[in-house]
Amino acid sequence: MNILINGKYVRKDEVIDVINPYTHKIIGNVPVCDKIDVKEAIKAGKNSQRILNKWSAYKVSNAIYSSYEDLRNEKKKIAKTITQETGKPIKDSLFEMERSIETLKLSAEEGKRIYGESIPLDAGLGGKGFYAFTEKVPLGLVVAITPFNYPVNLAIHKVAPAIVAKNSTILKPSTKAPLSALRLCEIIDNYFPPGIINSVTGYGREIGNELAVNQDVNKISFTGSVPVGIMIKNRAGMKRVSLELGGNDPLIVLKDAVIDKAVKGAVAGSYLYSGQVCMGVKRIIIDDEICDEFLDLFIKETKKLKIGDPMNMKTDIGPLIDEKAAEIVEKSVQNAIENSAKLIHGGKRKGNFFKPTILDDVKEDMDVIVNEIFGPVSPIIRVNGVDEAIKVANNTKFGLQSGVFTENIHDALKCANEIESGTVFINKQSTFRTDNMPFGGFKLSGIGKEGVKYAVEDMCKTKLIAINLR
Ligand code: NAD
Repeated sequence: MNILINGKYVRKDEVIDVINPYTHKIIGNVPVCDKIDVKEAIKAGKNSQRILNKWSAYKVSNAIYSSYEDLRNEKKKIAKTITQETGKPIKDSLFEMERSIETLKLSAEEGKRIYGESIPLDAGLGGKGFYAFTEKVPLGLVVAITPFNYPVNLAIHKVAPAIVAKNSTILKPSTKAPLSALRLCEIIDNYFPPGIINSVTGYGREIGNELAVNQDVNKISFTGSVPVGIMIKNRAGMKRVSLELGGNDPLIVLKDAVIDKAVKGAVAGSYLYSGQVCMGVKRIIIDDEICDEFLDLFIKETKKLKIGDPMNMKTDIGPLIDEKAAEIVEKSVQNAIENSAKLIHGGKRKGNFFKPTILDDVKEDMDVIVNEIFGPVSPIIRVNGVDEAIKVANNTKFGLQSGVFTENIHDALKCANEIESGTVFINKQSTFRTDNMPFGGFKLSGIGKEGVKYAVEDMCKTKLIAINLR
């Protein structure tokens, strides 16, 4: 597939193959861009942004609405591409597309609500006699760098808020799953001046570095792993940077929880897209008093999951993105077992498939707890009471989201108050997001918030205009 620079499709002699994680067949390829291509995209973005800046908000919003209609018409086709390039079960890819078109629509709506405010300068010493107000103005050129796991919706969460705030954009999708995102760029490009949305593909270290250091880029919006996020931030200099990074989300089940609700949350949260979800349930922290009852039902429900061809509508668990990813998960699980955790379900790898796995009696210093495991693994930590549960939940370098199951309002509020994460859900697992809510973690999980309204705010800078009336 081609990339898009200044409204033109660009091919290159050198390409990277895109491999279907289930069939292991090549399903397409994308160009290996170099620094010169990146500089071309930056130049195009810089020039075209001046044109977009003259468009009315009404016109920009309508153009995004038009691309929303096109994306809606193509949703089944693009969902199929997502499944082919990521191995995500097709029902989940279809849901990603439903969310994606919603995110685009929310952006079209939000583009009409970018307000400044009037500022009473006379409330400050010497400010009498001024008429003053702020305006939200575009940053300029925004670079969006996205991971493999939600290739369309996460790209929209960046480029659409950027464009409705009248910025130009460059999207660098993951080379593991770039095809659906490149199609998204083509759809949006149809309704804007050339260069408002550009795409580049290639090796992270080569083109990623140029995107990070180039002085003409005004913002980098990155979603991906912690090490890459930190590297980008360190190289970015004066540009604005937002980081949506990894998670290690806890699911707390207290002794008065409704067990079957908590089990449902644990299954959905741990195994969605085989655990390759930033806000996936990564640690189950459960009161010892109800742990055995919870585990009996959890194992029973986990056994019902259908593992297999992700293109089959009935499949719940497909492959991991590649064999290396599955080997990393396997190593962590083995390490836990060698260090006295009890394997009570799953634990087996076949190629890049990993069976949903439940480990009991897991300790806080084990690799499966300390690090983000991007696979279908549920480590169980047994605790006594709410205080210990919160202490364990907070004993992590991450802080994306968290979920607490309890029927006790005091414990629920205590958890809401004391857990250090960007979101605390009560009676819902962390693996939940609506596309308008503020989304973004604490600690190593990131900097800044997405969710359309919040992303739009971060795509603008504030200008003060003050008129001296004296
Ligand atoms: P990754 O960090 O390997 O890659 C993310 C993107 O960065 C890709 O486009 C990749 O090509 C690019 N990249 C790699 N090296 C680069 C470099 N040197 N300079 C610039 N760009 C570079 O992540 P991944 O494996 O694709 O995705 C999984 C990770 O993403 C997990 O840690 C997951 O938790 C995180 N994630 C976070 C969120 C969130 O909203 N917080 C959402 C989804 C995924």
